[in-house]
Amino acid sequence: AIPLVIAISTAVSAKAGILVKDRLALEKMRVVDVVLFDKTGTLTAGQPAVAGVVASTGDQDPAATAQLLAQAGAAEADSEHPLARAIVAAARSAGSLPAASNFASHTGRGVQADVDGARITVGGPAVLDTTDGHVPEPVHTAAAQWAAQGSTVLYVLRDGHVAGALALDDRIRPESAEAIDRLHKLGVRTAMITGDARTVADTVAGQIGIDDVFAQVLPADKDSKVAELQARGHTVAMVGDGVNDAPALARADVGIAIGAGTDVAIESAGVVLASDDPRSVVGVVTLSRASYRKMW
Ligand code: ADP
Ligand code: MG
Repeated sequence: AIPLVIAISTAVSAKAGILVKDRLALEKMRVVDVVLFDKTGTLTAGQPAVAGVVASTGDQDPAATAQLLAQAGAAEADSEHPLARAIVAAARSAGSLPAASNFASHTGRGVQADVDGARITVGGPAVLDTTDGHVPEPVHTAAAQWAAQGSTVLYVLRDGHVAGALALDDRIRPESAEAIDRLHKLGVRTAMITGDARTVADTVAGQIGIDDVFAQVLPADKDSKVAELQARGHTVAMVGDGVNDAPALARADVGIAIGAGTDVAIESAGVVLASDDPRSVVGVVTLSRASYRKMW
């Protein structure tokens, strides 16, 4: 027979949109002292949009700017990444996309393709390591400003030289700051993990009030950050939505898949949240504490 307390908490949890797949995970949530959130799609809406374009000749050059966006869109056409979809949408609404061939994707870094007779690369700041290090002044200035505002900056390379950059904005969920504040009031520390650059990550974390930030983490390394926290004596809940997050969700003491997460994320999690409101994570803590308080 199912113990009464479990039956009750299951009914309460269903009402709160908390699906408990693994009862031990819910029980363990009571003693979790760090909640680690994936940034993109969890604390942010996960639907970035292009907010700025700069070519090496500066923003006073509309023809160069249009060409840069078109070539970046062409290079991203075969990528499933939300950043790619945003670039393709912006490029298509500005005109038609040039043809691209020899597409290559580098997980957590960016893409490459041949467009207009040149090798086009689109990716985060790490792609600058593959260049001679020269960043044209207008690109440098715009990129620094965008990053300080919390925008994701992607560089566009033409045959290995910096040809320009794009700013992508992803809206922070309005409920994120309250979720973090309520976790802190429950005595739980908060952390954020992302593949995005350090400046962006720090800006977003600062706006939400997150305690600790892991930035520029490659998808394959997310679960080792969870292990690192555990090695320091923490009991860790990980909250994520993406395919990238599955190993970290599995590694965490409590894996929580949020909203319309990918199937892989849902499979790897002990708790699944029906809504994508990060405040429902607070509900998991309070439910766990109420259900398992000094029962046995
Ligand atoms: P997150 O951890 O925020 O979900 P990802 O690991 O998916 O992010 O991506 C991390 C970084 O890799 C992005 O911020 C971006 O710099 C780069 N990146 C990933 N995919 C692409 C792409 N298709 N085009 C350009 N850059 C990309
Ligand atoms: Mg994500």
